[in-house]
Amino acid sequence: MISIENVMCTDGSKKNVIIEENVITSVGKEKDRSGTVIDGKKKLVLPSFVNTHTHLAMTLLRGSGDDLPLQEWLETKVWPVEKRLTGEAAYYGSLLGAMEMVKSGTTCFVDMYFYCRDIAKAVEKIGIRGYLGSGIFDFPSPESEKPFETAVKFIKEYTNKSELIVPVMAPHALYTCSEETFYKCLDVSRKYDLIFHTHVSETEKEVKEFEEQKGVRPVEYLYENEFLSEKFLAAHCIWLNDAEIDMFAEKRVKVSHNPISNMKIAAGVMRLPEMVKKGITVSLATDGAASNNSLDMVEVMKVCALLHKVYTGDPTAISAAAVFEMATVKGAESLGLKAGLLKEGYLADILLVDLNEANAVPYHDFVSNVVYSMHGGNVDTVICNGKIIMQEKELVNVDEEAVLEKAGEIAHKMVSG
Ligand SMILES: [Zn+2]
Repeated sequence: MISIENVMCTDGSKKNVIIEENVITSVGKEKDRSGTVIDGKKKLVLPSFVNTHTHLAMTLLRGSGDDLPLQEWLETKVWPVEKRLTGEAAYYGSLLGAMEMVKSGTTCFVDMYFYCRDIAKAVEKIGIRGYLGSGIFDFPSPESEKPFETAVKFIKEYTNKSELIVPVMAPHALYTCSEETFYKCLDVSRKYDLIFHTHVSETEKEVKEFEEQKGVRPVEYLYENEFLSEKFLAAHCIWLNDAEIDMFAEKRVKVSHNPISNMKIAAGVMRLPEMVKKGITVSLATDGAASNNSLDMVEVMKVCALLHKVYTGDPTAISAAAVFEMATVKGAESLGLKAGLLKEGYLADILLVDLNEANAVPYHDFVSNVVYSMHGGNVDTVICNGKIIMQEKELVNVDEEAVLEKAGEIAHKMVSG
């Protein structure tokens, strides 16, 4: 039992939040001092963030290949370095990434990478939720000659194994997987009732090339071949036409929007206002730290709001409140997770923001402050699945300094060869 007393809520009221096991059981006046009591004075309570697309261990590549064209970046700075990835490197890269996420208030993420068992170990150690998919394409991965088989093995091993780890099916993209591989992935995802997570129409080039080869656009192909469903979580989705947006809406596809990565790679601007208008569930994500370069969802919220305002020339294009929902409850909804709201019966995945800081004062509108004036470093305390995993800015389950040192060493070795 955890009780957070007299804590500020986003509506300006002060309440007590009671957590039993892994669920919020009361938000209101009720008091219970029988377990751990946290003083909520000068703290704001929020649901913690859900990051719906990343490649966690790519923290190891952070800052090693910036400001390059996409293809040159992949061919010279990512793929050769990833060849040197090992299980140990994936473990420390994931510890580093998970630490950064908790420090900035994220407790749940969707991942596509390699050595998932090592990633799972790191994620469980830090104590957050990982929806983990072993990346699949039609050539060998850093981990395996047969990425599909490796992914299926992980799915079988981790189905219902852990409270915090949920396997997902994660073929990389239509342009790196054959139709046959995509069908095999669909079969397994249906058999195990998994989220089907993939990159969709990220660059104009990939869409043009697909259309030239197949005579249809990527989303048309996915629609016509019945890949799309409410379990389909599509990352990026920048180059969609009106008909393709309608197809996503009809099939209740979930979209993961990665504005900072899209801007950094100059991939384009996703048609967020049009998608929202059609009722599509759109969540937010960082993408990997190699193309962001941080895993801070607070930063992503602000950039998302600013990007769509300047792109449409309309300051009302997206509000702070809408962006905040994308980073919390919409992310949880995309995964079928009862989280993302500070409400009775919801999972106790929450965070406390320190209000005793210069960029957090005054309090005219708390959601506006969170989106536009605060940063990840304002997060003070984080609870995931009913357990305190960070208190007063210190992670509970890990020796932070040791991880920073070891991850730094491994990253340096990998990048310098
Ligand atoms: Zn990605």
